[in-house]
Amino acid sequence: MPWFSSEPRDVPKVSTKFRKIVTPIPVPQSLPILQKLHDFEPRSMQGQPPIVWDRASGVNVFDAWGNMWLDWSSGVLVTNIGHSHPRVVAAINQQVAHGLLHNYCFPSEVRAKLAEALAAVAPPSCKKVFFLTTGGETTECAIKLSRTHGKSVGGKRKIGIVTFNSAFHGRTLGAQMAGGSPALKEWIVNLDCAMINVPFPDGFRQRDTRFEVFTDAIARQGMEPQDIAGVMLETYQGGNAAFAPVEYIHSLREWCTKHQIVLTFDEVQAGFGRTGKMWGFEHYGVEPDLFCCGKGISSSLPISAVIGRQDLMDQFGPGSMTSTHTGNPVCVAAALANLQVIREEHLVDNARKMGDILEPELKRIQKRFGPALGSADAKGLVGTIQIVKPGTTDPDASLAQDIVRRCIEKGLLMFAPVGVGGATVKITPPLIVTEEALREGLAVLEESIGESLRG
Ligand code: PLP
Repeated sequence: MPWFSSEPRDVPKVSTKFRKIVTPIPVPQSLPILQKLHDFEPRSMQGQPPIVWDRASGVNVFDAWGNMWLDWSSGVLVTNIGHSHPRVVAAINQQVAHGLLHNYCFPSEVRAKLAEALAAVAPPSCKKVFFLTTGGETTECAIKLSRTHGKSVGGKRKIGIVTFNSAFHGRTLGAQMAGGSPALKEWIVNLDCAMINVPFPDGFRQRDTRFEVFTDAIARQGMEPQDIAGVMLETYQGGNAAFAPVEYIHSLREWCTKHQIVLTFDEVQAGFGRTGKMWGFEHYGVEPDLFCCGKGISSSLPISAVIGRQDLMDQFGPGSMTSTHTGNPVCVAAALANLQVIREEHLVDNARKMGDILEPELKRIQKRFGPALGSADAKGLVGTIQIVKPGTTDPDASLAQDIVRRCIEKGLLMFAPVGVGGATVKITPPLIVTEEALREGLAVLEESIGESLRG
């Protein structure tokens, strides 16, 4: 759905410490660039707001025409320590100057250091680390490891993979089959009948959050625990920042252990301090068998990782679970610096503290504007407001996109995940955000919601 006109609109000028808007939006001079993207990229890339990024630093994104946005997207949950953090930039520069840009299946010291550093911050049961490049690859890998384990302990029938309605795990074949949005997997046609979805206990669209709903849904789809190799869930569902109830996850953990089922948390969004804990699953007080990391792992360059139990991670023999860009030394150097900054700048604590402001503020805004704001949730620095048709839980994507557009025109960079949750306004600033910047952004969001609702 085209939701941002390519016609430049005159918008009020903005000039604060964190935001500057001095041109029409989209910027007229940016139109040839946007046109080129339109001409040479697939239509699927056209859901992006027409803001042509030139550079980004800390909590700000700049274009080449004098505009500056306060970034509430973190480049879609990547730049946890802020954009272009000087320590990450220095680490990348040093690695490049040092003269090793690639090594694939030959060892490097920097890769060893990152594997050790990640194992050190992982829960005690998860001490092996496998590097990949994207989040989708990690969820594919978790499926493969779960199935392989299932077959080895339960034979050919133990291959089922259980994931949740509305879940998002990436856009490759296995990851999309695991995903919980039927529309996104229509293209596959021959879906794997051993991969099933069950309701996610978000308390909003799925009101009944008892664990029995999980086991009943599995039984209804003709499966028993002996048929299941793995359960994978997003630590919170990206569409609405909703966590499952703690007791539910405890029951799930016990059930998986009892039936030799691999429990994977997809931490691609939730990891690296985003939720006010280093790992989002810490909120549940359980340990996964495997977990998937991406996005915030480097706050910059593409790298991802599966981290997990040694017996699971060691199932494949030498050379049979690899990837060409595994542990690319420049990406690894960025990720190492990122981890150090998270620790030394106490960013997990900052995410928690800022979350203590964000959550009540979102709830207040929801209360103020009433039924079109279906739910407001936040933990740490991930927050969402679900925009709905009043009195229902049906998403109102066009209203969500109108709110996001107005925020962007006022210098607050946001995204509404089109095609995933449909109608969620998502708030994910870098974890370095200060209270002053957070409160300024909240005021802009509140103003934009008010304007959108007035029409
Ligand atoms: N898992 C989750 C929870 C995600 O949010 C995403 C991306 O948005 C992915 C997996 C896929 O990651 P990537 O886009 O890096 O393949």
